[in-house]
Amino acid sequence: MRPFTIRLRFRGDLNFFVGRKTRSQTIERSLSEKTSVKDVIESCGVPHPEVDTILVNGQAVDFDHTLTTDADIEVFPVGKHNTQPTEQHLQTTALTGFIADGHLGRLTRNLRLLGFDVAYDPKANDRQLLDVMARENRALLTRDRRLLMHAIVQQGYSPRSQNAEEQTIEVIRRFDLLGSIAPFTRCLRCNARLQHVTKADVIQELEPLTQIYYQQFRRCPNCAQIYWAGSHFEKLKKRIETIQDRLAGKNAD
Ligand SMILES: [Zn+2]
Repeated sequence: MRPFTIRLRFRGDLNFFVGRKTRSQTIERSLSEKTSVKDVIESCGVPHPEVDTILVNGQAVDFDHTLTTDADIEVFPVGKHNTQPTEQHLQTTALTGFIADGHLGRLTRNLRLLGFDVAYDPKANDRQLLDVMARENRALLTRDRRLLMHAIVQQGYSPRSQNAEEQTIEVIRRFDLLGSIAPFTRCLRCNARLQHVTKADVIQELEPLTQIYYQQFRRCPNCAQIYWAGSHFEKLKKRIETIQDRLAGKNAD
């Protein structure tokens, strides 16, 4: 087979994944055997779950499209930088929940605080993460690009920021979750949905002052943790407000 040349351009924040020097420039790859467009894109450092539309010489293609001759490739991320028609989008927006890798504990807590279903086990290895992801149809959250490139991953996202609050905002934007925020509905420790309980149900488990000052309680049916609007609550509420303000402000521009 005659060698051929592929020229790639990455749009929007997909440039986060390519080397600093090649950012916003055309990347060239010389190939001498037929190669899937997905493999060429990932060879540039961009995991496939981050890619929403691929144009080969102006034509939209799927990940398994095979390259055999010279081609110009344009690659679009999920979100506002993808200006291509919806039918050309490769990522689905339907989502049942997330699974986060062991380095994203603070992001996990924030997402649970906002009511989102996030499986998290800091002791899980990559194999176990991928198993739960596939079995429960969850989107994978990880900053490990190699893991995100695993063929079994269908939906996933690599937070750009190292800051948990920024990461939370990124995930809500990426998966279009602003309208689904339901604060204080999920257990921060174990991810189960909280249940309303009466004061009488839990009074024997409360400290004396909590018994006096608080009337509304929720309990985790899984780990039995009791939640009420105590001093910790104000701090959490503030964190939620900060995140919501940031989302609202940034959406306006
Ligand atoms: Zn719990």
